Amino acid sequence: MQKGNIGVTSDNIFPIIKKFLYSDQEIFLRELISNAVDATQKLKTLSSFGDFKGELEELTVNVAIDSDKKTLTISDHGVGMTAEEIDKYINQIAFSGAEEFLEKYKNQDNAIIGHFGLGFYSAFMVAKKVEIKTLSYQEGAKAVKWTCDGSPEYTVEEIDKKDRGTEITLHIDKESEEFLQEARISELLNKYCRFLPVEIGFGEEKEYKDDKMVSTGKPKIINNTNPLWTQAPQDIKEEDYKKFYRDLYPMGDEPLFNIHINVDYPFNLTGILYFPKIRNNIEVQKNKIQLYCNQVYVTDSVEGIVPEFLTLLHGVLDSPDIPLNVSRSYLQSDSNVKKISSHITKKVADRLNDLFKNDRKELEEKWDDLKLFIEYGMLTEDKFYEKAEKFFLLKNTEGKYFTFKEYEKLIKDAQTDKHKNKVHLYATDKDAQYTYINEARDKGYDVLMFDGQFDIHFINHIEPKLSNVTFKRVDADIVEKLIEREDEIKSTFTEEQENNMRHVFLGTLPKEKNFGVIFEGLKEDDLPMIITQSEFMRRMLDMSKLGGNPMGFGGDLPESYNLIINTNHKLVNDVLSNVDSKLGEKINEFNSKVNPLKEEKEKLEKENEKKKEEEVSQESKDKLEQLRKDIDAVVEEKKKELKEFGKKNKLVKQMIDLALLSNNMLRGEDLARFVKRSVDLIK
Ligand code: ADP
Ligand code: MG
Repeated sequence: MQKGNIGVTSDNIFPIIKKFLYSDQEIFLRELISNAVDATQKLKTLSSFGDFKGELEELTVNVAIDSDKKTLTISDHGVGMTAEEIDKYINQIAFSGAEEFLEKYKNQDNAIIGHFGLGFYSAFMVAKKVEIKTLSYQEGAKAVKWTCDGSPEYTVEEIDKKDRGTEITLHIDKESEEFLQEARISELLNKYCRFLPVEIGFGEEKEYKDDKMVSTGKPKIINNTNPLWTQAPQDIKEEDYKKFYRDLYPMGDEPLFNIHINVDYPFNLTGILYFPKIRNNIEVQKNKIQLYCNQVYVTDSVEGIVPEFLTLLHGVLDSPDIPLNVSRSYLQSDSNVKKISSHITKKVADRLNDLFKNDRKELEEKWDDLKLFIEYGMLTEDKFYEKAEKFFLLKNTEGKYFTFKEYEKLIKDAQTDKHKNKVHLYATDKDAQYTYINEARDKGYDVLMFDGQFDIHFINHIEPKLSNVTFKRVDADIVEKLIEREDEIKSTFTEEQENNMRHVFLGTLPKEKNFGVIFEGLKEDDLPMIITQSEFMRRMLDMSKLGGNPMGFGGDLPESYNLIINTNHKLVNDVLSNVDSKLGEKINEFNSKVNPLKEEKEKLEKENEKKKEEEVSQESKDKLEQLRKDIDAVVEEKKKELKEFGKKNKLVKQMIDLALLSNNMLRGEDLARFVKRSVDLIK
């Protein structure tokens, strides 16, 4: 028997393996099985080139638990190893800077092992002792047994082993006994080995015979050696893709469609990606892509490898060209990863474009499920935007779909404003904005639906990219002003009337929100009052709610609205006459009080204007100050009077409540009062 020290750079490679790589212990099984698979594949290759002339015979890799001996054994019938090979590949693991490397990447345990050649040693994460019994395929080779108990010491001895291949036995640690449980091993095999290219057997195949399950004596094969993505696309039927999806995600909805990726130059990439139905809550949809390296499962977190919006896709990607031994942030700058990532983006865009060109109907049918995904892509990837701009579909309130170009053509005549902008009107809630949508449609305008999770961002993003296009929500203004024209609609009230009426209405409007009162001479049969929120204001609010603070305002923005008063409406004029008859005298009194004060103030101000600041006497300054105060006091009193009037006036309250109601702004107690008042009014 030969003894020796494993050629690590220092004694502490095992503690490092145990300690730093601890968090992902389970990957030892993947490493040992993929070594067995590699050895088997090598033998097949040798055989196909005629360099191995013997019989291949049974090539299944077997995994077995012995719960009495507390061992886990992985055996293959691959190339095996000679004593020299053991020495070279197992003993001398001191590759340049192994330790340094481990130290650097100790937090990326999972990724580094397989790609660094420490794969085999990961066995020591769960085993206190490991034995290798192996017989090389080479003629005249002698079988050897290598044993190591976790210290850098090992022993090698010749043994009697008849069958070609390697058998690795792990004496499982006390703390790792979970790996002696059949269920746990099954779970791991299913996770990492499902699609390995060589059959993996675990346990025995059972069959139903004479009313009970009996063993068939054959190993139970846990993997599919020929998964769909490795097959030629032209041989695959639609149903096969669907079935594969169900295998991967048994609980998932049916996917919308798939993309089969098959590249071997300048990088190697295969895989099948599926578009899932994505409506809301994109977070739960993420991280469904499984990443494989030559059919060995690596991870299901593909961030950094594919662009973020593509993490919404499902399916598998398989590439030996993705470096896994580097940090995620470094990945993005890797040139292969960059190429792979942009290849996938292009493939996805092309697939959608094909659908658009060849089967517009199908695209429209699936659009609502796809839109979120496409918007996400357009928002985050410029390359994708450029392609998607051509097939992106706008949907109107009638459920019809248009490309940007088609839509501009549709609305060009009716909806071009005085600045030559094509105003795209949109609604975000069909029910809440019903009145506004209806009015716009009656006027011959078209209204788009933008009710998705990203729509607000999306509008902000595309508006500057489309030339001479603006977006405006239907309730951003009264219908007459949604599309700005040369001719303005003028109020029919005098300035004095407007000033008085403003306060009559202001007293009745909800205090928590900012309201501006605007008078417009609309048609007699238009509504008496309408509440609008300017497109600018609303977008600011939306953005600040979404967390962005576009204008750098600190804190919460106040909500501001406009109350538009139709000065041609009979009811509004009724209120005006009512104010006249009830308050006319009082207003006159106020005016006769305030007017002389104003005149005096103006006179003083004019005199002072001619003088220099220091020439104005203190007396004059005081006088002016006093006048201002007196005027304010009277004006305040007048305002108060008008507000009181408004508050007591049922008609004013009723009209304002109606305007609030059609804007979904009347709630709770106010709504209850409105209902009661309405009942009283019709009694
Ligand atoms: P890697 O697989 O990255 O080369 P490992 O530490 O997993 O690194 O394995 C080291 C080497 O040991 C392999 O390259 C191979 O030469 C040899 N080896 C490991 N397991 C087997 C096996 N089951 N059969 C034959 N050779 C093996
Ligand atoms: Mg390996």
